[in-house]
Amino acid sequence: AKRSGRNDIAVYDAKLHETYLERQQIEADLRKAAQSREFFLVYQPIFCVKSARVCGYEALLRWQSPVRGIVSPNEFIPVAEETGIIEEIGSWVIRKACKDAAALPEHTTIAVNVSPVQFRSRAFVSVVTRALQDSRINPNRLEIEITEGVMIGDAGEALKILRALKALGVRISLDDFGTGYSSFSYISAFPFDKIKIDQSFVRDLGQRSESLAIIRAVSGMCSSLGIVSTAEGVETEQQFEILRTEHCDTMQGYLFGKPVALNELNVSNADRVAA
Ligand code: C2E
Ligand code: CA
Ligand code: CA
Ligand code: CA
Repeated sequence: AKRSGRNDIAVYDAKLHETYLERQQIEADLRKAAQSREFFLVYQPIFCVKSARVCGYEALLRWQSPVRGIVSPNEFIPVAEETGIIEEIGSWVIRKACKDAAALPEHTTIAVNVSPVQFRSRAFVSVVTRALQDSRINPNRLEIEITEGVMIGDAGEALKILRALKALGVRISLDDFGTGYSSFSYISAFPFDKIKIDQSFVRDLGQRSESLAIIRAVSGMCSSLGIVSTAEGVETEQQFEILRTEHCDTMQGYLFGKPVALNELNVSNADRVAA
């Protein structure tokens, strides 16, 4: 059947315009949110296989909007990046996570996600430096999670920033490994302390033999290079058993705990730092 091309275009235009307006509105709301403290952090435990205990937490950003309710970072981070608002939000995340880390056991790390735009911003290293000084936490408790997106473009510049962070004593994790343009040249050229195997590989563990092969290869590569391996999105005992057999060092996922507010974390009294 023939369709009216004209109508299709009209429908398409209306959709496009709607999306544009929606983005404009999100941007306006985000600017307000950054000023009126509508953001908060939740923490998800990271389980260490060898010691069989929680050895860290990942800070995950949430936006409690008065008009939108709780908005997922997957929805607003891209808008925040495109508009540059991410610098302000991201700086707040680092300061807040370091402050919260001071209330958590000394043996635990705090991982913070840093977007490529934030990473390359001029103030980034000084924001981290200040947050460490103000919170007085041991710098090696802070883990900066970056994605391959950070290395795209001026790799020399990215390496300079990573070296400056390492000089502070901070640890560097490569997040979502296997989803982007993962390249062995990055892994040998950049000083990563940890590689986080993307949850898509864990999810497919039972169904696709390729996923098991990839996890095995990445885990083997990590142990040869002295890099800690983490599996993300671990939800079942079965996945846990397979990943343990494959020598994944640490794991994260709903099996160990969902992300929750700092005061809801189940930190044992023996571990809790006297307030
Ligand atoms: P990510 O860094 O890969 O974080 C892991 C995501 O997987 C989180 O989603 C977490 O809630 C979810 N997750 C954890 N365990 C499981 C599991 O067992 N099953 C399933 N299905 N999901 C699990 P969330 O919190 O919605 O965050 C989404 C993404 O938003 C993050 O992915 C990260 O890329 C970004 N993000 C979050 N917080 C920040 C932030 O402060 N700054 C920046 N730049 N990005 C952030
Ligand atoms: Ca992450
Ligand atoms: Ca990830
Ligand atoms: Ca992600």
